[in-house]
Amino acid sequence: MDYEKYRKLLAGKTEESFTKWDTQKMVNESELYAFLHTLKGTAGTIGLHDLAEFCSAHLEILSPDDETGIPVSSLKNFKKNIRLLVNGDKKKRRDIVLPDLYVNHFDQETFILLIDDDLEFVSFVKELLEQLGAQVLVAMNGKRGIQQFYDMQPNMVMIDLQLPDMTGLEVYKRICDTASDRHVISILMSSNHSNEVISQAYEAGVMDFIRKPFELDVFVPFVFNRDKLRKAISQSITTDGLTGVGNRKRLDEMLKYCERLSQRSGVPFSVVMMDLDHFKSVNDTYGHHTGDEVLRAFSRIALDEKRETDYIFRYGGEEFVMLITGDKEEANTFVERLRESFNKLVFEDGDRSFSVKFSAGIAEYEGRLEMLLIEADQALYQAKRTGRNRSVIFDKSIVQVKRKLQVIIVDDDLLIRTMLEEELSGWSLPDIELSVKLFEDGVSFLAADWYEPDTNFIILLDGIMPGMDGLEVLERLKRRPDTNNVLVSMMTARTSEEDIKSALWLGADDYLMKPFQKNEILSRIQNLSSRMF
Ligand code: GH3
Ligand code: MG
Ligand code: MG
Repeated sequence: MDYEKYRKLLAGKTEESFTKWDTQKMVNESELYAFLHTLKGTAGTIGLHDLAEFCSAHLEILSPDDETGIPVSSLKNFKKNIRLLVNGDKKKRRDIVLPDLYVNHFDQETFILLIDDDLEFVSFVKELLEQLGAQVLVAMNGKRGIQQFYDMQPNMVMIDLQLPDMTGLEVYKRICDTASDRHVISILMSSNHSNEVISQAYEAGVMDFIRKPFELDVFVPFVFNRDKLRKAISQSITTDGLTGVGNRKRLDEMLKYCERLSQRSGVPFSVVMMDLDHFKSVNDTYGHHTGDEVLRAFSRIALDEKRETDYIFRYGGEEFVMLITGDKEEANTFVERLRESFNKLVFEDGDRSFSVKFSAGIAEYEGRLEMLLIEADQALYQAKRTGRNRSVIFDKSIVQVKRKLQVIIVDDDLLIRTMLEEELSGWSLPDIELSVKLFEDGVSFLAADWYEPDTNFIILLDGIMPGMDGLEVLERLKRRPDTNNVLVSMMTARTSEEDIKSALWLGADDYLMKPFQKNEILSRIQNLSSRMF
């Protein structure tokens, strides 16, 4: 078939579009998208494969529904390359040849946002950075750049000084607080490198200014250095001091990273929340120092067992979270392997030895990042409730199991008992099953059989009662071995600081001064219960 005729037709049509743009002065991003989309189809059909490939690469950058205008003046190189390619010239596109050492130097965590409306420049830099191993996102105007900065949370941002809708400096000023808070590397780029421009950029807080056009052999080592600095800062503020694994801040970052990766690759990932069993009694029996050793050992074993694509974090106290590449079944298999290794470990303390177990909750990412930790936590709670030293995979039916909370009021004043009971029974919490029990004195409370291991208790204990003083009841209560799930709030009419001090010293978790407001009681109980769950 004679493609020449069609090629000429295509060249003519392309020139028509260019002329139209010149008179418009601006082209909408969506218009440019539509143009390239059509061009790609025709080019592929008539054998202009280089042109089709060029269109594909540019379509990746453009957004089909952004109505923001791009000045025609910034499309000079873009038009030049299209003209060359329509004429069947093969040599126009600058092939990026990198030393092997540079290829995939970044790991996928390096995530760069490029805000620039020069289509040719952007597609070149994007390709370059991707060959270096980074993930790259492009915005062709300021507004979209700012939006992507907040939505996608890149860790490096490169902003052109001249954008169609605002200056690069304005863009920077609208992201700078978050950028510095998250230690994002910020770079302003411009072909205008007057001292005035550069000093303005630095005064606004931009980290680096780079001149356009880039010198590749300077630019590449420069971004490597910056990325290394970013990693070092991020490491130091996101590492848990005791165990050396990531902290919660790091977990937040990595959750977003895993989400991005999973959305791109289609590979599932899961969250495992783990909590050491009866850890309080390890501390009580062997001391905190030994407790710390157990936490370090747990981290070490998890680090040994995990694959390179899995991550571990200390979520707080003796709770750890892992992000596992794979579905919930794969995560479960991993946890069982970890369990086997950890349970075998024998800790020594003088001539005593002991081992520690853990419980785990597992949830798989299903499009809602904000639900993952909540679901894993619910599954973990279920694992604890059903006997510990086991894993539970999250399932919607778990949610039906409400956590139990019982408020026990021990007070000789009938009026107070009645009032509190009435208030509390009208109170409903979304995922907690609340019950109330009343005792009119300490002796009958201590003698009663109210305790259950899988219920949390809040005891509102009156300070002065006939028979046995509130402080004495508290002291006896705290001598019980099983008070992990029991919080005590002393109610005292006595304003004496000494009483409050003795109550706290004896292990009260909170105190309430009589007379009290109903609302105050409710919010204190809510506070205490959030400490327990
Ligand atoms: P459960 O099986 O229900 O999880 O019981 P538990 O005793 O492990 O649960 P709880 O959450 O009541 O106790 C956690 C304990 O962990 C209480 C706290 O003293 C201890 N802990 C928290 N952080 C540290 C730490 O950094 N070092 C040490 N040694 N102990 C810690
Ligand atoms: Mg625990
Ligand atoms: Mg705990």
